[in-house]
Amino acid sequence: MAAEQKKRTIVIIGGGIIGSTTAYFLSQHASFNKERDSITLLEATKIAGGASGKAGGLLALWAYPSCIVPLSYKLHQELAEKHGGVDRWGYRAVHCGQVDMYGTLHKSKAPSSTDNERLDSVSLEKRSKKALGLLRAAGVPRELDWVAAEGLKAYDEMGTPSTTAQVHPYQFTTSMASLAEEQGVNIVYGSAKNITQEAGAVKSVTYKPRDGGEEKTLTADTIILTAGPWTKSIWPMAPISALRAHSVTIKPSRPVSAFCLFTSIDLPRRNARTSKTVTPEIYARPNNEVYACGEGDTLIPLPASSDLVEVDESRCQDIVDEVTSISEELRDGEVTAKQACYLPNVSRGGGPMVGETKVRGLLMGAGHTCWGIQNAPGTAKCLSELVWDGKVQSADLSSLDPRKYM
Ligand SMILES: Cc1cc2nc3c(=O)[nH]c(=O)nc-3n(C[C@H](O)[C@H](O)[C@H](O)COP(=O)(O)OP(=O)(O)OC[C@H]3O[C@@H](n4cnc5c(N)ncnc54)[C@H](O)[C@@H]3O)c2cc1C
Repeated sequence: MAAEQKKRTIVIIGGGIIGSTTAYFLSQHASFNKERDSITLLEATKIAGGASGKAGGLLALWAYPSCIVPLSYKLHQELAEKHGGVDRWGYRAVHCGQVDMYGTLHKSKAPSSTDNERLDSVSLEKRSKKALGLLRAAGVPRELDWVAAEGLKAYDEMGTPSTTAQVHPYQFTTSMASLAEEQGVNIVYGSAKNITQEAGAVKSVTYKPRDGGEEKTLTADTIILTAGPWTKSIWPMAPISALRAHSVTIKPSRPVSAFCLFTSIDLPRRNARTSKTVTPEIYARPNNEVYACGEGDTLIPLPASSDLVEVDESRCQDIVDEVTSISEELRDGEVTAKQACYLPNVSRGGGPMVGETKVRGLLMGAGHTCWGIQNAPGTAKCLSELVWDGKVQSADLSSLDPRKYM
């Protein structure tokens, strides 16, 4: 007769994409019995309040690290099929390319719904036969008709719809948390403070409730650290740093085709004869939205929580100016969000760190750098196997073992 499974008390710290998807996979595992076991997702502010709600959402078989990418890419496909991800979180296959262009600066101006005509901008008329011919001549796929032909220097394909896809990260992350909750995961809002240990094993975690009141304690036999760039504030030896990055969303003047573009744009400096090169990423999304992000900065250190992240309007406007310099559809569109968040970087190893630490019962899924959306389901599935089966079955994650780096 099989031995009876012991009651498990599991706490996941951090409700970004890694924590929420881990909660989902833990709750889907055959060994989870909600009458006997408890799984708590402890989130300091709100689900997907950090990078997981403000990222681009590109998924790619050509992402890194290769030990987890194929598993995670496949799981994204399976999750979308199982839970209606096409409608629920904007899952779709996309083209992806690197485009090198000359940009044309246009005077910035606040968008307004009554403002249909921009007197200070010149139509690029890219839909003329001549313009489309220029795009084709530069090797641009027929479907990509929303960049200005006149400015094009080169186009290189990076991925096709069979190797590249996308999700809306906020919708995906909040869906994972809701699906986990439906399976019996308890979501608690509070900021984890201190992990206590007994005889080399985790015992509990204390937290400050989000809505005030006395510090509380959750006892646990398993604690999973998934606090993204904040992981170090809970577990100081974690070699994880934070990098701020700004992004914007734009409602284009007409629906644009499914392309994610890495760019290199030569932009004239205002009132100068010189130019500078900028490299925003531009992702068309299915809900008639285009997402764009710029480079990171280290000007403002990571604040205590995601709701205190400072947004620098001028950095967002730079991104708007850059992307509108190569697309009439974006220039004539409406800016719908200006935002910032912190990328979880690693200072040792290439990241992420996924697996056990030197403390019994303390696991980690953190430091996912710029591929955390892509690699979340793979990370989560492997962590759930480690918890319920005692070992990772679906991939060889030995190179990501946190014990190698701290
Ligand atoms: C501009 C930008 C674009 C990106 N684009 C892509 C992309 O296209 N594709 C891709 O794969 N990746 C992308 N990424 C990377 C991706 O966003 C991250 O790797 C991923 O979101 C990290 O998820 P996380 O759950 O580890 O961290 P986070 O999303 O930061 O979540 C951590 C959570 O922990 C919570 N928390 C913090 N401290 C505590 C505490 N003490 N107690 C309880 N909870 C706590 C926070 O409130 C937060 O909700 C992008 C990142 C940026 C910045």
